[in-house]
Amino acid sequence: MKAVILKKVGEPLEVSEVDVPKPGYGEVLVKIVRTGVCYRDVLTVDGFFPRVKTPLVLGHEIAGVVVDKGDGVEEVDVGDRIASLPYVPCGECEYCRSGRENICRNRKWYGEVLNGSYSEYMLLDKRSIVKLERDIDWNYVAISSCVLGMVVHAIMDFGGIREGDKVLVTGASGGVGIHAVQLAKYFGGEVIAVTRKEEKASFIEEVKPDHIIIAKGDFSKEVKKLTGGVDLVLETVGEPTFNYSLRSLKWGGRMAVIGNVNVKAPQLPLGLLILRENLVHGVISSTKKSLEKALEIGYEGRVKAIGSEMSLWDVEDAHDILRRGEARGRIFLKP
Ligand SMILES: [Zn+2]
Ligand SMILES: [Zn+2]
Repeated sequence: MKAVILKKVGEPLEVSEVDVPKPGYGEVLVKIVRTGVCYRDVLTVDGFFPRVKTPLVLGHEIAGVVVDKGDGVEEVDVGDRIASLPYVPCGECEYCRSGRENICRNRKWYGEVLNGSYSEYMLLDKRSIVKLERDIDWNYVAISSCVLGMVVHAIMDFGGIREGDKVLVTGASGGVGIHAVQLAKYFGGEVIAVTRKEEKASFIEEVKPDHIIIAKGDFSKEVKKLTGGVDLVLETVGEPTFNYSLRSLKWGGRMAVIGNVNVKAPQLPLGLLILRENLVHGVISSTKKSLEKALEIGYEGRVKAIGSEMSLWDVEDAHDILRRGEARGRIFLKP
């Protein structure tokens, strides 16, 4: 089979011919139909994650069909379509037992220590996968965990939205942001989408936020003028917008810091945080429950996967688009 291999951190990716792996106990072999490109993949190539084991097949946003399975797998059969967590949880630690497997200390990430989805076939542990109940857009399935399940986790487990709550989404044209706008709307929020680039505003309009703010610098005054302060921020950018987001919150408002870790640390004005009793919460990846919820939302058809499609074998071009900050929505790769 063909696979995209990272031979050494920092080096260009290579498309190589490798053997199709055989599923062992508790594993399934999946034919990859679609895989999403995550900024995490770019950071992996660039050496941001010290645990990376090379040579490695990248990719953790997984959608495919089961073509073989090892012993001990009762949950799925050959021919089943599956979505997957981007990691294998241990299933036994305190976090796994309490439904917080996304912070399992023994979890293993696909595309980091285990071979991932930038290939024609891939091995998945049965603890990672969810069987699809119905037909659904393959692009949606590919991001049902890393993007959609993660935002669902942020909203349902920490953020909470009551009908009419005001929700600010930063980085609204990005792979996470464009879907966060839709999900915040889905859960009943009045959504203010923020983007730095004017040319991205019409793209964001497609998902119908209630307001769009185009701002290179501080947007908090405009947010305050529109809303009087928001109940919830889904902060998908990180350090560059963090303080403006914090200043956009109302008294008692909450901020979920989602997705890519920006290496640069923001200044945190403790006075603001204390006086207004604001809550800032980090969010990493998706739990099994939030992945399943994201799929349920997908079956309803009101939230769509948005972005562009490319050939998996042009993945270097896709990574360059992300490095230049030019992606609109997610980039979906087809083997
Ligand atoms: Zn991802
Ligand atoms: Zn665990």
